[in-house]
Amino acid sequence: MFLFANVSARYLSAYVRQFSPTRLRDRLLICDQRSVETALIDFHTHSTASDGALTPSELVNRAAAAGINTVALTDHDTIAGFVSVAHSVPSGMRLVSGVELSCQWGRVGIHVVGLGFDPTSPVLLDHLDGLDSARLRRAEMIAQRLSKKGIQEALEGAMTVAAGAQIGRPHFARWMVKKGYVQNENDAFKRFLGNGKVGDISTLWPDLGRTVETIKSAGGLAVLAHPLKYRLTATRLNALCAAFAAVGGSAIEVINGRPATGDIKRLVGMAVERDLLISVGSDFHRDAEYGAGLGIDTERFLPGLGVWERL
Ligand code: AMP
Ligand code: MN
Ligand code: MN
Ligand code: MN
Repeated sequence: MFLFANVSARYLSAYVRQFSPTRLRDRLLICDQRSVETALIDFHTHSTASDGALTPSELVNRAAAAGINTVALTDHDTIAGFVSVAHSVPSGMRLVSGVELSCQWGRVGIHVVGLGFDPTSPVLLDHLDGLDSARLRRAEMIAQRLSKKGIQEALEGAMTVAAGAQIGRPHFARWMVKKGYVQNENDAFKRFLGNGKVGDISTLWPDLGRTVETIKSAGGLAVLAHPLKYRLTATRLNALCAAFAAVGGSAIEVINGRPATGDIKRLVGMAVERDLLISVGSDFHRDAEYGAGLGIDTERFLPGLGVWERL
């Protein structure tokens, strides 16, 4: 699957340039008529190998049962879940290698989804080793900071919750709920772990350029995950997309969860302007009342735009 390593967005560029910009924007999300067989894919999902609730095999089985054609398990900074199910995928469904890498663009923490890479690439495995250590160091720092707020032994608590998974803030959040420090996980993020709070430490991540380089050198495609979640101004978001394209990024994630149509159109427009492909995913972590289920219908997009056509 990583034979398409050096796929260039130039091909796309040639394709879309046959339309005027206005016509193109109108055509980006056009297909009201669905084909009989809908093309469901999901290129952003999590399992118990990071902060998801389903085991990798539960996740791929759920995806197959939902009629998804192609799925990527994109756990945070680990491919352990992917590797554990890579050879036992339900028939009729394809599993593409995936990972969601933490990195930094300046002082902003950014997530880059890698797709279709060689999971045995030494460069990638080295990078993941580095992220393992970074996450452990970060967890220690979070625990130190929480202890100054009167919350003791958070590291041990979060590690127990993680149970061998790639450690992250959600494990701290779950432990804090269990211990009664907070009402729920959202509360834990709001008060202690989220943007600008004591547990928000992103200075340890590798930079955006090196992250994209790593995915590319492993033969994969790099996707800028959920661009609207970084809460950047329009100018800064444009700068981020430009920086991402300049370092060799391949695609922008235009659907993450259940975005508004206006947001999808805006992101597709940004991708096309920069000769980038588009990717989509549920970012499924667990069943939640208003959360996105697995699977995105790709029929609504103009052919030629999707990374799913290159993997
Ligand atoms: P980390 O990977 O350790 O930086 O933690 C980030 C993860 O925390 C995200 O991938 C989400 O799954 C989760 N998360 C972020 N914000 C919230 C929130 N407000 N409530 C619950 N989980 C959250
Ligand atoms: Mn997560
Ligand atoms: Mn993310
Ligand atoms: Mn994610």
